[in-house]
Amino acid sequence: MSTYLGEDLLPGVETLTAEQRRGAACVWCETTLQPGIDDVDLGARHATRTGPAWFPRGCRRCCYGRDDR
Ligand SMILES: [Zn+2]
Repeated sequence: MSTYLGEDLLPGVETLTAEQRRGAACVWCETTLQPGIDDVDLGARHATRTGPAWFPRGCRRCCYGRDDR
């Protein structure tokens, strides 16, 4: 599952943990994700002049409002 959210819909990268930045945990609720199983890829963010690349992922509950496996 993959979707791309605008920057304004994501939490600020500076507020996230290392796990959230590399896509190992939901960017909203910090739930640990299982890649390819319950994660939703929100679109990789490239490195900028002010920060490194990061890889936002969310859990299904936060992205869709429900768990549907
Ligand atoms: Zn979540």
